[in-house]
Order: sequence, then C-alpha cells, then structure tokens
Amino acid sequence: MKKWKTNNNCKIYQITKGRANSYLVIDKDISIMVDTGIKNSNKAVMGKLDDFLDGNDLSYLVLTHSHHDHVGNAAMLKEKYKTKVIIQKSEAEYLMNPKSQLIPQGTNLATRIGLRLLMRIKSKLTKFLNFEAVDPDILATDDYFISSNCYLITTPGHSQGSMSLIVDDEVALVGDAMFGVFWWSVFPPFAADVPMMIRSWGKLLNTGSKLFLPGHGTENSRELLEKQYNKYKLKYV
Ligand SMILES: [Zn+2]
Repeated sequence: MKKWKTNNNCKIYQITKGRANSYLVIDKDISIMVDTGIKNSNKAVMGKLDDFLDGNDLSYLVLTHSHHDHVGNAAMLKEKYKTKVIIQKSEAEYLMNPKSQLIPQGTNLATRIGLRLLMRIKSKLTKFLNFEAVDPDILATDDYFISSNCYLITTPGHSQGSMSLIVDDEVALVGDAMFGVFWWSVFPPFAADVPMMIRSWGKLLNTGSKLFLPGHGTENSRELLEKQYNKYKLKYV
C-alpha cells in the first residue's frame, strides 16, 4: 500500500484500495482516518490500522460523504476505537438513517443507463447501498482544523455535503469529489450537482495542494486537475 509524507512531517498511509480507498493521516500525536471502505473489508482495515497506530488511539474518523462504499466500516471503527466521527451537517442525516440516502445522478451515458436499470430493482439497490447507521460526534463546516496541519473544507457536488481533508496545504484527500481511475480524466461517474463539483475543484486548487488522493483509483497530480478544471469550468461554471 502507498504512503506519503509532507514537508511538515505529516504521514499518510493508504489503508484500503480496490472498491474504495481509505487513508490514515498522522500529524504528530493526532491520527485521522479518512473514509472506511466497504463493509466486508473490516478485518483488513483493523489489521492495518492496528499496525500503523502501534497501540495509540485513533483520534478521529473523517467521512468525506455518506455513500456506502466510504462509510461501510464506520460503525465498527467507532465502536472498536471509540473514535470521534466527523462529517458535514448535510450528510449526517444519511449516516444516521442510511435508507434515506439519495441516489446520485449518473454523469455519463453508461452510468445514467446503469442507474435506470438498477432503479427497476430498487429493493436490491437499496440493500446494496445499505450500511450500519452511525451517530456523528462533530458536524464540520469550512476550514475546520483537526490538528495544526490538517483541516477540512467543504467540496460539494458529488454529494451535497462532500468534504475534503487538506494536509499541510500539500496533499488533499478528496473522497469522490474527483476520481483517479483514468489517467486522462478526474471526472466521477456520479454527481448530484456537476457545476458545484467543478467549483469545488477550483476550491481544492486554491489550497495550493499538489497531490489529490481520491476515494477510487490512484492519486491525481495538480497538473491533471488544473487541466480538467480549465476544460470543464468553461462548460459548467
Ligand atoms: Zn460517493
């Protein structure tokens, strides 16, 4: 699994990959997990976390948004590590009541058709998207500092309450605000509000971050995000 280190010695470890990425950020004595992966990856998650935490507490669990592939292990992690769960206010309702979750819109023809077909078997879709409910401890807003070098900003668009963690103004952990699946594109296959999402890319660029770690795929460079932002802002913003 990959790891990164910033100039101020914040360490970032990738905990899960595949269906969904999750990361652990360590800033001196504060540890912050970002997202949790899908539910059945919980054994792998705990094993890796225990290794990196090395007997220390998990201080915070940040959920970039409440989609099932990001919060699947949140209930288990909160219970095991007694950690404080942070989410944006407008996502909290879905976290506490997974069945109320809104289904995001497809952003291309394939995902639009796929979703329409899935909606015909809505009961199966609801089951697939389900997860164990969690009560959040902290409802974050813009520029919410968790440690001296790590803060949250709101990056809505993929979902109404999406958030990103900025580490040292150098690395941004962005959830599904962008994807890292294709080398030529950061565009996610689903988004609630595309123009809002493109504006969030601008906001992420304004932090000065050089690297963007997404919820799916591998890291995106600043160059790629700048290119994509300049292309899509003409169309959407
Ligand atoms: Zn998502």
